[in-house]
Amino acid sequence: METEGLIIKSTKYGEGSRMLSILTPQGKVEAAANGANSLKSRLFAGSQLFCYSKIVLKKGKGRLPYTSSCDVVENFYGIRNDVLKVSLGVYFCELLGIVAVGEDTERELRFALNTLHMLEKAEDYTYLKPLFEMRLMSLAGFMPYGECCGICGGRERLNRFSAEKGGALCDKCGGGKRVSEATLEAINYICTAPDKLVFSFRVSKEVEKELCQVCEEYLLYQIERTPSKLQYLQIMLDNPQQL
Ligand SMILES: [Zn+2]
Repeated sequence: METEGLIIKSTKYGEGSRMLSILTPQGKVEAAANGANSLKSRLFAGSQLFCYSKIVLKKGKGRLPYTSSCDVVENFYGIRNDVLKVSLGVYFCELLGIVAVGEDTERELRFALNTLHMLEKAEDYTYLKPLFEMRLMSLAGFMPYGECCGICGGRERLNRFSAEKGGALCDKCGGGKRVSEATLEAINYICTAPDKLVFSFRVSKEVEKELCQVCEEYLLYQIERTPSKLQYLQIMLDNPQQL
């Protein structure tokens, strides 16, 4: 099978080999990369996390296919120069592994590549966390209510958000957490903007903080588990002075 793919997980396996999780346009694939741990291996470069490559997979003797060749298209190397960027990237990859489970993951793959590109280039990039969480949920079919109340369907005085009720709530229905109009607007934008424009929004640091809380809560409620990389990322985000 010839495909393109983003390495979303790469772990040591056996003697000098690696086990890869690859997000392709046709879903997530697990494959061995025999000998890839060696610097001399022609699979070494392409089997690193964040690497996007043209990949040839072949049927092996075991259960999993093996990587016959991989030609690196983009390695997002710049992410590795910043420990907080790495933590964000690792977290995004873990989320992709959890959420991008169907057989048509073309949009998730494009979105992931664009996000890694932004993460690599941008100086101000913490807004990528809520953006990635909410957009990924939307792409996976879990778009929250944004323009109308999740209980009564009304469009007036929306000023609350509840992960449990599926999104925005109005003042009359109550419940959830009080949020600013700017936060609800940002959520709407993240969920509905065309692919090309989704990264071009900016909010104040105050709104970003609220947006971060709301999006994370929504994501955790939807995926019903806590990603293992999230706790470490939280510590990094809360203590930027220690970096
Ligand atoms: Zn309502």
